[in-house]
Amino acid sequence: MEHEDFGRGFLILPVFHCCLIITFLVSVRVAEAAPPAPAQVPSPPRGRQTLAMLDFSTALGVEAALMRAQLPATFTVRAASPFVVASDLPPVELDRVIAQTLLPAHQALNVRYIRRAPVVPVRVYLFAGQTSLAVLSRILWKDDTPPVYGYSRKDRNMMVMDISTGGGTLVHELTHVMMWADFPAVPNWFNEGLSSLHEAVKIFPDRLQGLPNWRGGVLREVIRKGRLRTLSELVSDPDFYGKNSDVNYAHARYFCLFLQDRCDLKRFYELMKAASGTASPTTALVRAATVCSVPEARLEMEFQAYLPKLLGP
Ligand SMILES: [Zn+2]
Repeated sequence: MEHEDFGRGFLILPVFHCCLIITFLVSVRVAEAAPPAPAQVPSPPRGRQTLAMLDFSTALGVEAALMRAQLPATFTVRAASPFVVASDLPPVELDRVIAQTLLPAHQALNVRYIRRAPVVPVRVYLFAGQTSLAVLSRILWKDDTPPVYGYSRKDRNMMVMDISTGGGTLVHELTHVMMWADFPAVPNWFNEGLSSLHEAVKIFPDRLQGLPNWRGGVLREVIRKGRLRTLSELVSDPDFYGKNSDVNYAHARYFCLFLQDRCDLKRFYELMKAASGTASPTTALVRAATVCSVPEARLEMEFQAYLPKLLGP
């Protein structure tokens, strides 16, 4: 579940329309460039590959038209590159979310971390409440059990959420989405740690500053019971999304908060990305020790000593 937090869905109608329209557009371009008497024009690839053959602004327009066609008239659709955003919020409120949360967070992520942008537009569905999320999820994706807050799907190239719960989920999912192209081999614990760090966040033009949030309570309770695992156990756990996922999210988030406040989270991201796929899970702690300027053997101790400052009394 590479970056799917909670839900699953299945896109039927949009894919059908998408193939029809994009196949037509691409066929025209192929015909224009073809030699006078081609024996056979190869079939264009489908889905995102096909969309990526268009220039980005054209792809934005295609996606916006497709989303508008699939949704009730009460929805507003906005192209806000590299996103196409659909919502049943009042248009003024939707524009405020785009201008004050989505695009500033996107810019800050780009300045801070991201070096490779999405190659096709990302669909963003911001439902105004649980009812529209539930009803539209059933209609659009045959999903009878949509998540309470939101999720993103790399295979569907989309983010879906109940925006009435606030912007935290939006920035969490946005962080996942921006890593799809930039850091596809990101390990689960760091993928969720960095993304959940941004659930409670101050957005600056050049950075995102994660703040303590409710996941601290989960961590505090585990510590009270004497059951907090080591960082080595966290980063090498092959079942991050298993039965201890709530604790794992909290542990990973607060480790990222530690790296942000006490060390150098940006450099850690760069070191992790540079070595992705070539190292064992626990070498992440070597890199963490490097950006914290401590011997690896002291990293756990430094983290444990810093936690009270992050968790509060
Ligand atoms: Zn997540």
